[in-house]
This record gives sequence, structure tokens and C-alpha cells, in this order.
Amino acid sequence: MELQEIKGIGPKSLELLNKLNIYNIEDLLTYYPYRYNVYKPVSLQEVSDIEVATINATIESNPRIFYMRRNFNRLSFKALVNDLLVNVVIFNRAYLYKNLDVGKEICLVGKYNKEKNTFVASEIKLSWLLEPKIEPVYHAIKGIKNNQISSYIENALPFSQEIVDYIPEIYQDKYQFLEKKKALSILHKPHNSQELKQARLRSIYEEFFIFMLKINYLKIKNDQITGIQKQFDEEKLEAFLASLPFELTSDQTKAVQECLKDLKSSKRMNRLIEGDVGSGKTIVATIAMVANTFSGYQSALMAPTEILATQHYETICKLVKDFDIHVALLTGSLKKKERNEILEKLKNGEIDILVGTHALISEDVTFKNLGLVITDEQHRFGVNQRGNLQNKGNLPDTIYMSATPIPRTYALTIYQDMDASLIKTKPMGRKEIKTYVKKESELKSVLQSILEEIKLGHQIYVVAPSIMENEERNVHDVNNLKTSFDTAFQNKVKIEVLHGKIKAKEKEEIINRFKTGETKILIATTVIEVGVDVKNATTIVIFNAEMFGLATLHQLRGRVGRNDLEATCFLISDYDVERLKVLEESNDGFYISEQDFLMRREGDLFGTRQSGDMSFKVADLKRDFKILLQAKEDSKAFLKNSQIVESKYQILLKSIQNID
Ligand code: ADP
Ligand code: MG
Repeated sequence: MELQEIKGIGPKSLELLNKLNIYNIEDLLTYYPYRYNVYKPVSLQEVSDIEVATINATIESNPRIFYMRRNFNRLSFKALVNDLLVNVVIFNRAYLYKNLDVGKEICLVGKYNKEKNTFVASEIKLSWLLEPKIEPVYHAIKGIKNNQISSYIENALPFSQEIVDYIPEIYQDKYQFLEKKKALSILHKPHNSQELKQARLRSIYEEFFIFMLKINYLKIKNDQITGIQKQFDEEKLEAFLASLPFELTSDQTKAVQECLKDLKSSKRMNRLIEGDVGSGKTIVATIAMVANTFSGYQSALMAPTEILATQHYETICKLVKDFDIHVALLTGSLKKKERNEILEKLKNGEIDILVGTHALISEDVTFKNLGLVITDEQHRFGVNQRGNLQNKGNLPDTIYMSATPIPRTYALTIYQDMDASLIKTKPMGRKEIKTYVKKESELKSVLQSILEEIKLGHQIYVVAPSIMENEERNVHDVNNLKTSFDTAFQNKVKIEVLHGKIKAKEKEEIINRFKTGETKILIATTVIEVGVDVKNATTIVIFNAEMFGLATLHQLRGRVGRNDLEATCFLISDYDVERLKVLEESNDGFYISEQDFLMRREGDLFGTRQSGDMSFKVADLKRDFKILLQAKEDSKAFLKNSQIVESKYQILLKSIQNID
């Protein structure tokens, strides 16, 4: 059954659903609410000033609207609540006006101020609520509202038997899980918190089970395989190492040795290089690729963004320029002709090292003899992509690089199919990035220090969480900030804006103007989070810092402090200051990710990333870690007893199948 066949879903809503990564009924029914609103009607006497309450009321006076400024209005009326006349106020709901006639029975959600006898509502429901109610809340996007998603799901639920249940019967019985169909229905339409808990439990387990089944499968397959024993001229490699512009740190040296040992052994390399931002992982990868080139094989390096891929390409070109090594860059924005040229050379073996985005795994990319595959920022790619690139060669060695967004214990489970090299210490001479948490009201002093840096010839990054003005939340956006900064600096400083929606070519030009120093201030979204390397940038200002995870903020501030200049990071936020202070105190990425993990509220553990290893739908690595460990053991046992004959598992594992 196709999505379009569901009642209510037309071509237009289909397009919007696609934007939410919903392409079929299974996607739709597993588009789980990210939270639930629980409404339990109480009487006015039970209400405290500080808690959000749900109260039934009857309208007593016609509502009045007061427009305060653009996008900001106030609607007020009197209502009778438990025989008491109460003032009701709600903001930015002028559109409710026509539904609020005198005598209408409504339900108010919000806070009651006894002293002022005023109920400030955050929500008004247009009928009384007589029983407690749990309402799912979905991540919605412009054009598709929460209740629309709800109704599509409601209409799709009768077809939920089409959805495969991946929990094997033995475990279904052992844990007495709810049936999948029932669980799905409850997750979207819960009657009480008890059944909701049960439904979630089974969904979490299933999600982890699938994940760990894949990981365990990868591990087993990998152990069974013999790779290629690569041989290369050690002297030649020594010459390359001697040509490097700096000494390797001891951790880098160790990581390099581990990689070279793997290359030479008959074991197929499957190695994770973990290291904080700025720890110098790229050079390790480059050395491994050079050794691989010297042994006569091609290498591929895959990065999550075009910006990063381009940068890696440039770095590598510089490092190998005195050696007869051919490097090429393959990204989605290449012209057809250029692309075909590269593909041709790749097939002929004229290219030794190919750098690119996930364009590398397109079907038409064929190598002559791919021997080593490296993915940078591995945590941004999903487990399914681990296999795809390996598929391209004849059992190529594999290296994953990651800046550990999660603590060791969790990483060890998630990446347990890999060997790990740890880069703990950063290159010498790297200064701590001085970090300050500042209130919005202290912005003036921040602007002052920006100006001073610019006068010294240095450059500035400014980061905002959003591109567009956001109607629902009061957050800074890049365009707005550009206007404010232009005003503040009286248009005398060159400022540019960078975000993900800008076309690749233009993006490149913007970055280039920043690299050359023409642009002094770059206002960007988190597109600059990974990799952008402009050594002359000394200050980064991050607005609405409360909206980011500590690990992300740490990664972001890693954009500065890339040479011996004093580097500063300002975190602008009026909220969540205690959590942000962790960054004032520490520059240690491992410590920060631990703290991040401990302090973040559940659910938003990994931000709003759409893809990647940690993008579980209902499961939460930290909260549900015990379930993960159980699923890990169960999936292992399940694989061991080779019950994989069932086709549903074959299909599942095919998505990561790279080896057979
Ligand atoms: P990351 O681990 O975050 O990917 P990079 O590989 O981008 O870090 O390295 C960060 C910066 O440190 C780069 O500019 C790189 O040239 C520099 N670097 C790496 N290793 C060393 C070293 N041993 N000594 C001095 N600088 C180094
Ligand atoms: Mg890197």
C-alpha cells in the first residue's frame, strides 16, 4: 500500500511528508511523537502559581485583541471557572477570536496567577476536557501541522499489519512484549501512561535489536574475512613522513603505527580513530592513504559535507605535492564533464586518492583497485553506510574517524565491531580556547572585543541556530544577525552569511573570501561545525547557545584557536547557564561529552540530527542503555544460532551487506 492511498494524503502533503523523510506507511507509522502532552483537568483551588494546569472554563465576555507589534498580539477575555470570574490572557492566538463566543465551553492550559486573578494560557481547547488525556506531539514543519500528522497516522494505522516486526519470537515471548501492531497504535493514541510505557519499551527494544543485529553481523563477517596484505616501500614512506610540516604527537604516531600494521596484515582493517576536535586526525588518515598508494592501491576519503571534503582535498594536495600521488575531489556540485573525467581516471587507476562527499558511493563510481576507505566524522553517517563504500573495492581496509560525541562506554557498544585508536593529546602549542558565557544584555562588550580583534587583523565566526526568522521560538537567525551586525559596525566591516541552503558554488566563494581574509565576519549556521579551517579566525560567538549540545558547542569553538593566537569563544544565552559553564571550565572533549551526556535532558541527547549512528527514533542511548545491552546480547545469540534464514532479516542485513 502506497502512502498516497491513505485518506487525506494528496500530492502536496506527500511532498511535505517526504521532507520529513516519510516515504511509505512504515516511515509514517514509525514517525513517533517526540513528546506527549498530558492534560488532567483540575479545579482552580488545586492550582499552584508555578505549575502548568488544565482547567475547564466558560467564556463570560467577548475577547479583545491587542496588537503589540508585528507577530505579537494579545487576546484577553473573562471566563467563569468553578464559579469564579477569572481574567484569561493568551499571546499570539488572535486567530482564535472567531471561536471564542460568550457562553462557549473551553479548556485552558497554562498558569494561574492568584494575586492578579489572571490565567495566562499557553493553549486553549475549544471544548471541555472531562477525562485526562494524553496527546502526542510530533515534530512538524511549515505547511504540515501536528494534528494533520496525527490524522494521517490515524488513517494509516489500520494498515499497520503490513509492517515487519523484527523482534524474534523467542524474545517476544521471553519479554512478553506487546504485539507490534498494538504498540504502534498505542504510541500514536495512548489511553494511559501505563500502556504507553509498555509500547515504548517494545519499540525501544526493537530499534536497538535491529541496530545491534547489524553491528554484530558486521563484526562476524569482518572477522571471517581475510583482507589484502599490503606491501610498500618503507623508505619511501619514511621520506613522506620526513616531509611533513610538523612532528606527529605520540598519540598520532601510535595511531599511524596501528593503521600501518593493519594495512600490512592479512586481517582486514576496520579501525575507528577517535580524537577530539583539533587532535589531528586528518594527518593520520593521510599517512595511511599514502602508504596505501605506495602499495599500489587506491584510497577514498568520504566527508559529511562538501565544505569539509574540499578542505581535506586541499590539505592532502599540499601534503603530497612532492610525491607522485594523484588526488581528486568528487562532490555533488561537479559539472557533468568534470565528473566524467574523474570517473574515467578513477577506473583507469590514474587517481590514487579520491576525496568527496557521499557522492563517492553513487553507483557509477568505480575504482580500479580500491584498497582503503576512510570516513571522516563517522558519527554523522548511519550504520547502513558503513558497508556501502567498502562495497566499492575488493575487501578494502577501512578507517573511521570520529570526534567522540559520546562517552567511551557507549561508543564501545555502538562501535564494537571496530578496533579503536585513541588520540588523546592535542598538538603542542595549541592554546586553550578562552570561553565565556554571556547574557544577551552583555552583547555590547562582546561586540567591543570583536571590534578589537578585527582591528588586529583577525577574523570572527558568528553562529546562529536558524536560517530564517522563527515564528514559534524567539531565536536568532543568520539573516537577522547580519542586519544587526551591519548596523553595529556601521557597514564598515565586511560581513557574509553562510548556511546550508546556499548553493554549493556560492558557498565555496563565501568560504574562500573568508579564507583570504577579505570577509572579516562570517555569520553561519552549524554548517561550519565540522572541519572549516581558517587559522586567522580568533573569536567565535555562538547565539542561543542553549539550543546546542555541549559536544556540538565544543566542536564549533574548535573552529578557532588553530594557531598560536589567543582564541576566544562567547556563548550567548539567557538560559541553561550552568550547563554551558562546563565549556568555560574545560577544553577536554572527552570530559565535555561525558558531561553533556549526564546533563542533557533525555530525548534531545543528540540534538536534532536527522541521520547518523545515534539517530534512534524512540530509543535513547543514555536512558535506555540497559535495554541496549540486552538487545546486544540477544542479537548476538540470535545470529549465533543462525536463524537468519527468515527473509525479513536477510533484507534487513542486505542494507548493510557489503561483504558477501
Ligand atoms: P581533527 O582531528 O579535528 O580532524 P585536524 O586533522 O583538522 O583535526 O587538525 C587540526 C589542525 O592541527 C590542522 O591545522 C593540522 O594541520 C594541525 N596539526 C595536526 N597534527 C599536528 C601536529 N602534530 N603538530 C602541529 N599541528 C598539527
Ligand atoms: Mg577532522
